[in-house]
Amino acid sequence: MAQSVSKSAWLAAGPLALAVVLLLAASNDAPRAKAAPLFKLPWQPGLRMFVLQGPNQGTHAGYSSQYAYDFVPGPFSRERFTVRAARAGKVAKVVQQYADSPDCNPSYNGEANYVLLDHGDGLGTLYLHLTQKSVIPKAGAYVQQGDPLGQSGHTGYVCGPPHLHFTVLELKTWKSLDVTFADADTLRDGGRLRVNQWYLADAGARTYTVDLPFVPRRIASTPRTQPPTPADPGGSARAP
Ligand SMILES: [Zn+2]
Repeated sequence: MAQSVSKSAWLAAGPLALAVVLLLAASNDAPRAKAAPLFKLPWQPGLRMFVLQGPNQGTHAGYSSQYAYDFVPGPFSRERFTVRAARAGKVAKVVQQYADSPDCNPSYNGEANYVLLDHGDGLGTLYLHLTQKSVIPKAGAYVQQGDPLGQSGHTGYVCGPPHLHFTVLELKTWKSLDVTFADADTLRDGGRLRVNQWYLADAGARTYTVDLPFVPRRIASTPRTQPPTPADPGGSARAP
């Protein structure tokens, strides 16, 4: 748009026209998920987690994982943590029948446990690699932001320690989206997260009564169909 406007036209039109053009350009360029920080870090408020792998790094290069994050309690930690809803939504899908997988084995790509939340506006959040039978809400249930969903784990094609692979998705296409977080600790990076950094989830007013350890529950009938798991193992193998 701006290329077709000559310098003399700019001078003649004045600053108002320039402002209008800049506003139009800004609105055209802004993906919708950037509009507002709807999402919060998906773990217990008051805790820090470490970013093992971030957007466009290592295995986070595919259509459904480009803007994903891998979270662990620390750079050398193999501990698992309670994964919480980044935003209120409906539980669109639960897969949790799979046991831990051997490290870095691509033949386990279709055996990742996960929760998919539908946020009602075309956006979803994916919580991947969860521990077997650790998922708390049932498919079809509604969860609030911060509600516990399950436990991070090592299911599917995972290289490295148990972790949470998290991404916001456009539900219709399963395209991974670049979003910002609302937690105050993320604002130093504009709401985005850098690899090899810890981030503190906001200590909110809510207190949570359900937390580790989980009581494993038997799932009555979980169809053994191949889930639409994004072709991404997550993990730290190729992270710097
Ligand atoms: Zn990942």
